[in-house]
This record gives sequence, C-alpha cells and structure tokens, in this order.
Amino acid sequence: MNWRVALFEPDLGDEEIAAITEVIRSRWLTMGERTQAFEAAIAQNCGARHGIAVSNCTTGLHLAMLGLGVGPGTEVIVPSLTFVATANAVRYCGATPVFADVHSLEDWNISRDTIEPLLTPRTRAICVVHYAGYVCDMAPIAALARERGLALIEDVAHAPGASRDGRGAGNWGDAGCFSFFSNKNMTTGEGGMITTSRDDLAESLRRLRAHGMTTVTLDRHKGHAFSYDVLGLGYNFRMTEITAALGLVQLRHLRDRNGRRRELVEHYRRRLAQIPGISVPFADHPSESAFHIMPVLLSAGASRLHVMQGLRERGIQSSIHYRPVDTFTSYREAGLGPLDRLERTHLIGERELTLPLYPSMRTDDVELVCAALAEVV
Ligand SMILES: *Cc1c(COP(=O)(O)O)cnc(C)c1O
Repeated sequence: MNWRVALFEPDLGDEEIAAITEVIRSRWLTMGERTQAFEAAIAQNCGARHGIAVSNCTTGLHLAMLGLGVGPGTEVIVPSLTFVATANAVRYCGATPVFADVHSLEDWNISRDTIEPLLTPRTRAICVVHYAGYVCDMAPIAALARERGLALIEDVAHAPGASRDGRGAGNWGDAGCFSFFSNKNMTTGEGGMITTSRDDLAESLRRLRAHGMTTVTLDRHKGHAFSYDVLGLGYNFRMTEITAALGLVQLRHLRDRNGRRRELVEHYRRRLAQIPGISVPFADHPSESAFHIMPVLLSAGASRLHVMQGLRERGIQSSIHYRPVDTFTSYREAGLGPLDRLERTHLIGERELTLPLYPSMRTDDVELVCAALAEVV
C-alpha cells in the first residue's frame, strides 16, 4: 500500500552507508571495537556505568531477568499494556508474569499504586515499560523495590534519550533494556542494549550473552588470552559490528530527532483538542519524553475499526498499541489471563488508536492526519 502518511519511517542515509562500508573494509564483523564504543555511548547517554550489547531488546530482557535471579517459582510484575516481549521474557525464565494495571486514563504507565497490591513472597522483580516514551513515576517505584528487596528492570524500548527528574531512562533500576528494532526511535534493524550501573551484574550479563565464556574472541585475537572456561549456561545473544556502527550514527541524531518528535506531538495536541471524541493521554507529563508513538483514546461510542478504515481510505496508516498481553491465546492457555481486574488496561486496549509519528514527518502531514480524523470520527 502506498500511504500518504505512513505510521513511521526510519531515518537512514549516507552516514549509515559509510559506517557499514567501513566495517566491511575492516574485516572484523562482530563484537569488536565498534560494539564496545556503542556500549559506552548508550550507557553514557542514560548515565549508567555499563552497556551490554545484545541481539535485540527481547534477549536483553531475558538476560537481565536471568541475571537478577528470576526463575521457576518466582513472579515478576509487568504491565499488560505493552509489547508481548516484556511478559514473554518472564516466561522464558520459567517464572510467572503478574500484570499490573495502568495508573490512570491519563497516565498509561504502571505505578507504585498499581504494583504494590500485587506483591507476594514470590515476587522477585518489577519490570516497568515507559509507554510511548513517557517515563514512569520511577522514584516511588524504586523506593518500593528497595524496601521489599526486589530487582527493578526498565523496558526502555520506547524511551531512548528520555528522562525524569534529571535521571535517564535506563538508569533507574538494576538494568535497562533498549531496542533498536526498525520502528524504534533509533534503529539498527535488529539490536538491543542492557544498561546497568552494577559492576557485578554487568560482568555476569557479559558472560551470559556469550555462552557463559570467561574471555571473548577480541581478547584472544589481541593476544590478551589463550583459553577460556565456561562458568554457566550462557547464550549467543551477541551484536554484530555492522549493527553497532549503525547504532553509533543513529545515536548521534537521537536528541535532535526526539526534539522534532516533540514539536510534532505538540502540534498534534493543539489540533486534536479541537476534535470532539478524541482524548490524548500524558498531557503535561512531568518526564522528558522520547515521544516514541502518538496514542489517542477514542470515545466510548466510537468504532475503532471504522475509524481505522476511514483513515486508510484517506491514505493514512494507523495502528494499535496494544492489545493487552493477558488477552492473548498463549496467555489464556497458560492460565495467565484474561484478567478482569485490569479495567483501565482493557478499556485502553479497546479504544486506543496510534497516529503516524516520525521525525521526517512534516507539520502538513499532521494537519492531513487530523483533518482525516475529524472527518471519520
Ligand atoms: C519493541 C519492543 C520490545 C522488543 O524489542 P526487540 O528489540 O524487537 O526485541 C520490547 N518491549 C517493548 C515495549 C517494545 O516496544
């Protein structure tokens, strides 16, 4: 389909082509000096001490949870209003995801208020998601984790470059997990990063990422080591040098592109305020958002399918973020849902609509989307 306004478009150009060409000329294709540079750059960007590059955010969440003691017999608090990977990672570890509702119909993140009643003696960790790039109210959540001796993980897939109270997303908990998938704010096609300020965790995650081995190929190549031991059951969740080279270029533009996203979102908010039957969450949100997506809430009477079809007829792509994870077949069959107590999550799941948003979008495109939306609602 040839959209007039697509849901998203990645920003890629000559700089990326040059960076990849350089990697190929170097003849060192994986886990080398570019990967190390990218790890340091992502860590520095959010204020954490360490970055551990991984193959994607899903493997990052899996490793972070393993490294923090999530395993059979334990529970992890997660939102249901998220991409399924957040909850799947808990299940990979043999643990049970326990779904928390969103804070309110204004703030679609989980909060201390919605997390605390779900804690049991089996709870091992809390994994938050900064929905659409708006950072959760982390200070009370971090305090709760400290008081109860729980691990705290951030799924930062929507929020690279975001912050709250001057602290970067990915630097609030024990570990932050970033995604560089095609449709994210910075992209390498596939790719991910775990950030942590804990030296012990960084060391065990580096080993878990590469088969549990005590030394890496680059060290042996450089003559620093001849042999290795395998300390535990690790995985191959490594990143390639091509990915890291792309990531370094993308990261250089992140701040400007998130800034452009902000301008577009502000324009959307002004225009959408004039359309009856549409409300926009996270108004005056206290975080520095990464503005990953543009979610709106339709009124109770509206047919979302009708609205999406009307937009499509006008050449405008839209999407849904998200169908609540507890309603999926796989979760129902595992006895993990559907959960009536997730009232707000389910209401949002039925009435949320995601409008196009990407940095190269023009202000005129926002006008087109809003005019089409006004016609169809
Ligand atoms: C995209 C996404 C992921 C998964 O990221 P991958 O890099 O594709 O594995 C996880 N959580 C959330 C909230 C996401 O949006």
